[in-house]
Amino acid sequence: MQVQRVVLNSRPGKDGTPVPENFRLEETTLAPELKDGEVLVRTLYLSVDPYMRCRMNEDTGAEYLTPWQLSECVDGGGVGVVESSRCPTCAEGDVVTSFNWPWQTHAVMAGSGLQKVDSQLVDGHLSYFLGAVGITGLTALLGIREKGYVTKGANQTMVISGAAGACGSIAGQIGRLDGCVRVVGICGSEDKCKALVEDLGFSAAINYRQEDVAARLKESCPAGIDVYFDNVGGAISDTVIAQMNNGGHVILCGQISQYNKDVPYPPPLSEETQENLQSKNITRERFMVLNYMSKVDAALFELSQWVKSAQIKVLETVVNGIENMGAAFCSMMKGGNIGKQIIKISA
Ligand code: NDP
Repeated sequence: MQVQRVVLNSRPGKDGTPVPENFRLEETTLAPELKDGEVLVRTLYLSVDPYMRCRMNEDTGAEYLTPWQLSECVDGGGVGVVESSRCPTCAEGDVVTSFNWPWQTHAVMAGSGLQKVDSQLVDGHLSYFLGAVGITGLTALLGIREKGYVTKGANQTMVISGAAGACGSIAGQIGRLDGCVRVVGICGSEDKCKALVEDLGFSAAINYRQEDVAARLKESCPAGIDVYFDNVGGAISDTVIAQMNNGGHVILCGQISQYNKDVPYPPPLSEETQENLQSKNITRERFMVLNYMSKVDAALFELSQWVKSAQIKVLETVVNGIENMGAAFCSMMKGGNIGKQIIKISA
């Protein structure tokens, strides 16, 4: 069978901005016969995620991430359907996902590496398994529950950076559902601000590209900031932390503003911000969703119930076609997405 796949064409360099030309589309042929334990899957949706930026480097800087190899097929989160199987746990028609799905229109994979999913959990909206009812939803929910210390009735204000992205858009809604009285998002465009306030119920939204973030935070968080869900790091986070209350909590989810720089993770903080954290007794522990896999089933069920009952609204930016994987990744890294960036590969 002839299939299309995406390989790594070149590396952007540790200090470089990724470009679509770092990826290359190829045709390849799949072996006609499956071996014992293998399944043939048709790819439905693929995910592009910020952590992939590290996989473009020769050394990812993280022991749990392997680098993508030049001229080899790139992989990441994917969802698809089993077309034929020689694996006892997978049957034709099953919907399956994996964190290591090749960027390929069809693929032969080991059945043991696939997770079967129940399409009823997402009312048939299978791309949600890569976002709101998948790893980004889990990151938002478990990040808040493990590191946010949100308490009903405590009059807390939560600020989220990267608020209109996959994790951020869900995190703000969970902050509100879990009991924060104010939820304020920081993001990169007027359209995003509008979506946060008008569609997702955020109390306010700040466009960091056009507005004075410090002044707008003062105005929209009159009682200070108790919980900060940090997706971006850098100057935005310094500004937020400077307005946090004593005993506040930073959920250190990601630092995307630093991913095209040759710095360790998490990147070092300025002395002033460090001093702010210490003097105000603010916690800032690194959060890694992969460390909480024992809580995934219950968390996915909770997310699915919220999504089904429309208590959580899901935003997606969907691009069609495997040939657009590289462009979609680069666009997401620069803020081209509202909600989860999804690439639809087949129907
Ligand atoms: P998003 O959907 O949020 O997409 C990335 C967004 O980052 C862009 O849309 C852009 O929005 C914003 N951005 C890009 N560059 C900058 C910058 N220089 N300054 C401010 N914002 C910027 O991606 P995800 O939801 O998948 O990931 C969000 C964060 O969560 C990332 O840091 C990621 O690494 C982290 N993460 C952490 C996990 C964990 O276990 N800790 C698991 C999954 C994700 P805008 O227009 O607003 O600039």
